[in-house]
Amino acid sequence: MTQTVLVINSGSSSIKYQLVDPETGDAIAKGIVERIGEALGTIKHVHGADVTEEELPIPDHEVGMREVLRLFDAKGPVLSEAGIVAVGHRIVQGGKYFDGPALVTDEVRDLIERLCPMAPLHNPAHLKGIDVARELMPDIPHVAVFDTAFFQQLPEKASTYALNAEVAEKYAVRRYGAHGTSHQFVSREVAKLLGRDDLKQIVMHLGNGASVSAVKDGKPIDTSMGLTPLEGLMMGSRTGDIDPAVVFHLARQAGMSIDEIDHLFNKESGMKGLTGETDMRSVWGLIGNDEDPETQAKARVAMDIYINRLLKYVGSYTAELGGLDVITFTAGIGENDWRVRRELAEALEPFGVKIDVEKNEGRIGEPRVVSTPDSKVLLLVYPTNEELAIARQALTLL
Ligand code: ADP
Repeated sequence: MTQTVLVINSGSSSIKYQLVDPETGDAIAKGIVERIGEALGTIKHVHGADVTEEELPIPDHEVGMREVLRLFDAKGPVLSEAGIVAVGHRIVQGGKYFDGPALVTDEVRDLIERLCPMAPLHNPAHLKGIDVARELMPDIPHVAVFDTAFFQQLPEKASTYALNAEVAEKYAVRRYGAHGTSHQFVSREVAKLLGRDDLKQIVMHLGNGASVSAVKDGKPIDTSMGLTPLEGLMMGSRTGDIDPAVVFHLARQAGMSIDEIDHLFNKESGMKGLTGETDMRSVWGLIGNDEDPETQAKARVAMDIYINRLLKYVGSYTAELGGLDVITFTAGIGENDWRVRRELAEALEPFGVKIDVEKNEGRIGEPRVVSTPDSKVLLLVYPTNEELAIARQALTLL
C-alpha cells in the first residue's frame, strides 16, 4: 500500500490539513476548518473531484479535528485504509531547540509550549492541533516540523543582533527566520533541477508574508525574517524593515500602547497600510486605474517601495554570497505575479540579468526558467509545496 502522511497546520481559529503521498507529491485529499470558536464554523473537504462544504458550530479544535476525521471516513479516503504512517505538524517557532523535525513526545510538546512567548499567535494554536491529533490518532507517530529549523544553521554573524549581549541571551533575542521549510525545499529542488550542489542562490518566498534567503552550497547564510516574521521585506500588511525608533516615537508622540503598535506594524501596514489593499492583484488594479489618478499614484509608489526592498536584498545577499547563480521566485506572488518578477529583473539589468519577457508572462504551475540563455543570473519560478516538504521531513524520522 502507498505510504501517506497527514499534514496538519493548526491555526488559532482554523485547521488546514492535507493527506500527502510523499513519493509522488500528490495531495490525495485536503481541506480546511475555519471559524473555530465562532457561532458557525465551516469545513471544506476535497477528495479528488469531490468537494464537500459544511457549516456547523465548531466550538474548539477538538470538535474541528473530530469533524475532519468524520469527513475522511464519510467522503474518503477512509483513514484506516489510507496508509498513514505519520502525522506531520507545522510549527512556526522551534527556537534554539530544533534544527530539524522532531518526533512529538511529551518533552517535545513541552518545549513547543515553552516557546509560546516567541510566537504567541502561532505556537499555542499548534499545540491545540497536536494535543487533539495525538488523542484521536494515538497509534500513529506525530512529527513536528519547524519553520525555523533550516535557519538554525545560519552563521552567527547573520543570526545575531547588535543588541546588548546579556539582554539578548536572557530573553533569547536573535534572528530565527521563518518560512524555513519552504526555503529549504525550494533551494534543494533547484539544486536537484540544475544538478549542482555548489550554487549561490537567492530564494524569494513572496506570499502575503514574504521572506528572502541567501543559500550557499545548500546552507542558508542569511534570511530576511528575524526574531519574528515582521523583519525584512514589505508584505501584505507588515512593515518589514523599519527603524525601531518608530516604536519609541509612536509610544511617546501618539501615546500608542505596545499592543497597538504591534497590531499597526503587523496588520495595518505594508501594502494594506499604503494602498488599502493586501492582495497584489488589487494593487495592480489600482495602478491600472486612470480614472483615479491620486490612488493610482499612491499605489505606484507602494509598488516601487516593494520592488526596491527586493532589490536591496538581492544586492546585499549577492555581496554576502560572493556572487549569484540563481534567483528563484516562489509562493503566491513569486509564482503568479509576472509584473513583480519583471520589474525586479529590469532593475537588475545593469548587472547582466535578462528576463525572457514572454516566458515570464506564461502560465506557471510547474518549475520554469524565465531568464534568457545569456542572462548572467538564472531566474527561476519554482512552486513551493510546504505540505510535501513537511510530509517528507516527517518520513525521515520513521
Ligand atoms: P500566504 O501563504 O502567506 O497567505 P500565498 O503564498 O498564498 O500567501 O500568497 C498570497 C498572495 O499571493 C495574495 O495575497 C496575492 O497578493 C498574491 N497572488 C496570488 N495570485 C496572484 C496572481 N495571479 N497575481 C498576482 N498576485 C497573486
